[in-house]
Formats: sequence, structure tokens, C-alpha cells
Amino acid sequence: MARPRLLILSLGGTITMVKDATGAMAPGLGAEELVQSIPQLDELAELDARSLLRLPSPSISLENILEVAQVIEKGFAEEGFDGAVVIQGTDTIEESAFLLDLLVGGDRPVVVTGAMRGAEAPGADGPANLLAATRLAVSQQARGLGALVVLNYDIHAARFVQKSHTAVPSAFTSPLVGPLGVVAEGRPRLYARVERSPVFPTDRGSPAPIALLKMAMGYDARILKALPDTLGYAGLVVEGMGAGHVPAEVAPILGEVAKKIPVVLASRSMTGPVFTSTYGYPGSEIDLISRGLIPAGYLSGLKARLLLGLCLRQGGDAAQAKAAFAQYQ
Ligand code: ASP
Repeated sequence: MARPRLLILSLGGTITMVKDATGAMAPGLGAEELVQSIPQLDELAELDARSLLRLPSPSISLENILEVAQVIEKGFAEEGFDGAVVIQGTDTIEESAFLLDLLVGGDRPVVVTGAMRGAEAPGADGPANLLAATRLAVSQQARGLGALVVLNYDIHAARFVQKSHTAVPSAFTSPLVGPLGVVAEGRPRLYARVERSPVFPTDRGSPAPIALLKMAMGYDARILKALPDTLGYAGLVVEGMGAGHVPAEVAPILGEVAKKIPVVLASRSMTGPVFTSTYGYPGSEIDLISRGLIPAGYLSGLKARLLLGLCLRQGGDAAQAKAAFAQYQ
């Protein structure tokens, strides 16, 4: 039987890193070298491994991921690939994966993976993660789930996954719902499914800078006033306290900002939906929504910033942003 055809795209990250002359870790390996180090991959699929970038993931940009999405779309539409695996640093996997979820349409699996330990480290987790990601990307079960993340054998949906620890191989969690499944005995097992989200075009629009700010006790709101006019931001995501709250004196300032640019209300809590109809005090979610803020639903501030950015990139306004967030409530 013909093996499935799989596109493997490497962007860099710890999984590719080896020590430089000073002993510090820096991106070194390419996609081809990573693939060759795991002989089992060849049995699973016919692979096309490409090194698109060699970056530490904090330096990956939205434009980079738009390009990655275009390469995947072309690979699916014109080159006959059955799935794609994206290899990158773990620091920004939760953002890249969510962007790919929002940008790559269709049923074919897109699986993002990386490693918490460098390529030369004792117990390096990169090879196991890449093998598990490949098994998932060629499986029928992964079809129709959008972008998925696999590390430490756990399978996560892009919209829920977070990097929750700075060091350990089990750093990735989906605190709201748990992982969708696991790769065990060499076989992906999906125990829950998510519905696909509408996708955005990859080839349209111009960058829309979105500020992301976290509320804190005694917040000094001067910076908020400067965002739309002086600093030229196109949108703002505020990580409010708890279910989406800010100090009373900050609420009218956010209302003024929301008259000029779309403002999305997320939570600084680790997980859980932003409320919409429970608390009514000044600075509460009811107060902020009545002033024009858009609730982020269960999306983290990081993911809300990306969704708002894609809406505004296409020339969308606050009403279109509100519609885009409606399905994450
Ligand atoms: N700093 C690294 C990066 O995100 C960490 C990793 O790859 O896990 O590229």
C-alpha cells in the first residue's frame, strides 16, 4: 500500500538546538537531519522535510506563520500531501498552532511539535515528539480537528493548549478541558473532538498591531489612553482580573479606547471563560461589555490577540471581531 505523503516543516527551536562554542544552545539542525535521526518515520510516510526557518521561537512572527500556512495550503491543494507536521520552539507553540488552526482550512491534519530538551541532551524528547506527531498527522482520526499540538505523547487542540511550565517535558497542558487524546503503543487515540473554526485567508490584508495588557492591583492606566492615537495600535486585548474585571477607575478609560479601536476582554486567570452577565459593579464584565468591550470567551489573552489581529488585518471592525469571538464563548 502506498505510504501517506507528509510535509515536515522546521522553524527551529530547542528540538533543533545544539551547543555553540560558548556552551549556549542555538538553532543548528535542519528538518532533514531531524527526520534522518528517526528511522521509523520512513515506514510511516513518504516525507518531504523542509527547513523554512532556523529561529528561536520567540522571534517567529505572525508574517512567518502566514507563510507557513501558505506553504501548507499549497502542499495540500497542489502537491498532494496528506498532512503536515510543523516543528518549532515551544515558547510560542500555543500561538503558532492557534494561528494555523485559523489559517489552514480543510480536513487534513496539521500537527505542531517541539521539544523541551535540546537535541544533544540526555533524555532528549525531540525524537519521541516528532515520531508521535508524525503518527498523528498520518492518522484518519486526526482529520477534521484543525491544528493539533503533540508533546510528551499528549494530543492537544490548538485553541486550548498552553505552555504551563518553563522546563519539564510535560510542560504542555489544556487546563480547561484536558488533552484530546494520547499517542500510546504507537497509535494515536482521540477521546474527544473539537469542531473546526472558520478560517481566514492567508493572502489578504496588512499587519494590524494589537496591544496585549494585563490588569493588576492599582493599575496605572496612562498607557491605555496612548494606545489608539499616540501609539497607533489597531486593537487591544485586556487580560482582566478573574472573570474579566478591572479597577473601577480603569473602566471609563477602556470605554473611551473602545470608541476608537476594538477592545477585547480576556482573563489573566489561567483558564475559564470570561463572564458576560454576572457582576454589575463599576469595572465588572457587565460594565465593560456595556462600554463596548468584546468578551474573549475561553480564549487566553495570547490567542485572543491573534484572533483580533486576523480580523482587523482583513479590514474588519469591532462588529466583525465580535462575530469572530462569538464561537469561543
Ligand atoms: N526558547 C526555545 C524556543 O522557543 C524553547 C524551545 O524550543 O523549547 O525556541
